[in-house]
Amino acid sequence: MSFSSDVKAELLNVNDSARHCKIALLAAFVSFCGCYDGERLVFVSENKRLMEKTADLVNELAALSVNAELYENHYYVKIDSRDKARDLANITLGQGGYDSPAINPLAVSSVCCKRAYIRGCFICSGSVSDPQKQYHLEISNSDYDHADALKALITSFGIDAKIILRKNHYIVYIKEGEQIVDMLNIMSAHKALLDFENLRVVKDLRNNLNRIVNCETANLNKVVSAGVRQAEAIEYIKRTVGLGYLSPALEEMARLRLEYPDISLKELGEKLKPPVGKSGVNHRLKKICAIADSLKGDN
Ligand SMILES: [Zn+2]
Repeated sequence: MSFSSDVKAELLNVNDSARHCKIALLAAFVSFCGCYDGERLVFVSENKRLMEKTADLVNELAALSVNAELYENHYYVKIDSRDKARDLANITLGQGGYDSPAINPLAVSSVCCKRAYIRGCFICSGSVSDPQKQYHLEISNSDYDHADALKALITSFGIDAKIILRKNHYIVYIKEGEQIVDMLNIMSAHKALLDFENLRVVKDLRNNLNRIVNCETANLNKVVSAGVRQAEAIEYIKRTVGLGYLSPALEEMARLRLEYPDISLKELGEKLKPPVGKSGVNHRLKKICAIADSLKGDN
């Protein structure tokens, strides 16, 4: 199972206790997989659990006893009673049926109902990428007005949702990890939220580790190359005029550097008697390099 289908499976198991939230959830299902022609209300989806959930909501809200029926790879929930179909259409879509605003304001008047509606939209038409790969959550809409109203609903929770047109569909999407976490929370996908956070932490940790390793390698190269350059300068002095040519302090420094070509300046300073700080060591080594340079210049 993909991360996305795990999230949907979890969301289908969320049970709203209040009637208003059940109406909001069913309203989302009507928008995406319902069809009301003034006579009958029919829901259709390939997702069995979604149609079972739809049947449960319909039965509870309209005192019916319909089932999800399989027909040629699709599951159907049919409300044949004209009165019941109209009542359900009115409370979910609004009094004007499909001519009402894209999202019926009455169905999403409370925060709890907004959350249920967004959850319903995601179950029907959403997807979320595995956070180990990328941060991306989207809900696809065939209708621009619905996409725009859904975006406004999501934005009301402080989430920065955007719309993009892709293959005749208006995609409401979220790109930022933190905001996807907020979105999972709003939809009540609490297990998915924890999984997402864990995977996100692992990913960020891995990125940070890579950064640290790269940084340390770079520093190490710097230490080694400076050490090599200093060792070359000291070898040159030793070969040409002898280390005795240097002042006693510089000579001691030179001998230590040759003995320990790849330790840090700080460690080198600690080996001197008396110990010298990093900048003092750096100063002496620079002097030695300058002396070697001047000797080379003389030749
Ligand atoms: Zn509610």
